[in-house]
Amino acid sequence: MRPSLLRRASALLLLALVACDASSATPKTPSEPPPAAAALDVPEVDAPEADAAPTPGDDAPAPGASVMAFPSGSNAPAADASAATRPAVHADLDPDNDEVIGPPPPIEDCEERLAAAGITFKPARIGLGRKQGGVYTCGSEQVVRVRRGPGEITYSKSSPLLTCGMALALADFERVAQEEAQRHLGARIKQIDHLGTYNCRKMAAYDLISEHSYANGFDLRRFHLTSGEVISVLEDFRPEVDEPDAPATRFLRALANRLYDEGVFSVVVTPYFDRLHRNHIHVDLARYRVDGSRP
Ligand SMILES: [Zn+2]
Repeated sequence: MRPSLLRRASALLLLALVACDASSATPKTPSEPPPAAAALDVPEVDAPEADAAPTPGDDAPAPGASVMAFPSGSNAPAADASAATRPAVHADLDPDNDEVIGPPPPIEDCEERLAAAGITFKPARIGLGRKQGGVYTCGSEQVVRVRRGPGEITYSKSSPLLTCGMALALADFERVAQEEAQRHLGARIKQIDHLGTYNCRKMAAYDLISEHSYANGFDLRRFHLTSGEVISVLEDFRPEVDEPDAPATRFLRALANRLYDEGVFSVVVTPYFDRLHRNHIHVDLARYRVDGSRP
């Protein structure tokens, strides 16, 4: 196996544990003793709204959830994406840092870049927890509360608390989501229900931290359209259907494919991946890449 593939396979194996409820993740390699279940040093959230954390138990991994094969495609954006609509690449394409763990580095001129991207936001602070084993396990140096993006989408149940990088990616996410909603459903998205962004926790079996621990991940659950239609990942993704006719299913799959292919996010995980993600699409800006947008 080529070193790059090995790295990716390693990252993918670990992703099974990056999934959204790490506290109940099952160790995948029984021979490897899990680290001590040390309590995390959770930093204070200096923001007026409580963050919507993914619901424990709701995301319990299925016994024997399999690790899917990594696709052979490159990280290059999809060839059919026109230059006019292609979003900026936010995904980390550097194969040499895939195993680096920690909050993302701050982005220079973050607030100016957010404003230029059409993001209305409020500065926030979650700080960094203590280092454990030389690694920050919680928090991030640079987070914001996103009030409104350029796609005029509101987010319930709370304004997303995100790293600056994720907030910038959200601007491109909204453009892609609105394009696909118009294309498949003939309407625009007015609201997205999410399951959370910031949730500080450690993996059960590996020294790998969920990107949610750094407010660097986002779980998308339902899409409310201007037509009144509501698209639910749980009911409409239908991973068991090979060639769906339903516009809602085609919308969700096209959206996930583009978010990965065009590098809006490093990681895109859908109900194709495991039962843990049966009710939401997880996106994040990890240093490694995982395409969970395909069967
Ligand atoms: Zn998640």
